[in-house]
Amino acid sequence: MTRSFWSRGITLAVVTVGLFVTPVGGSAVAVAAAGTTPFGPERFAHNHATYVITTKSAYYRQVWQSAINAWNKTGAFHFKLSTTNAQITLKTASKTQAAALGEDVGLTDYWSKNDLLLDVTATLNPPLLKSYAYSRADDVHVAEHELGHTMGLAHNPAKESVMYYRNRSVGIKQVDVNGVKLRYQTPAGQSS
Ligand SMILES: [Zn+2]
Repeated sequence: MTRSFWSRGITLAVVTVGLFVTPVGGSAVAVAAAGTTPFGPERFAHNHATYVITTKSAYYRQVWQSAINAWNKTGAFHFKLSTTNAQITLKTASKTQAAALGEDVGLTDYWSKNDLLLDVTATLNPPLLKSYAYSRADDVHVAEHELGHTMGLAHNPAKESVMYYRNRSVGIKQVDVNGVKLRYQTPAGQSS
């Protein structure tokens, strides 16, 4: 992935790159069930951020938009559309990227500095979603899950959370809304 934006004087020494994955296989991390979806140390400076949807697919544009609308409705965070220098890019994997994603139906990667998120990209993997016969609702849940990562949410070990690591059928739950609220009441650098 080309990141020409960062070639303008920001060195890798002060920028960390992180990776969240949504595997459809693999083993669960053994942690206690949480009443609030946990979060990592990274967050945006505010509980709002700008986004752009770059996929050419009308279907996946709608999937991303439905997921955006669902999160915006919760009031915990506001995603605002912007076509210039959006903080969040929502896309679908190219054929080559899809192959590299392997068994991940969705993936979010980000650049952060001092645990503040600067540039986040979330990707859906259409060939895999299709091969597992995900419904439109399932696809939206995956998009909601990746948007959870874009805000800083980590995986919830409980199945009744959109952030369950291999979630497919569950939408945004109160535990997830609580997680985002708590994330943005908690300074960058602290995780739960
Ligand atoms: Zn995930």
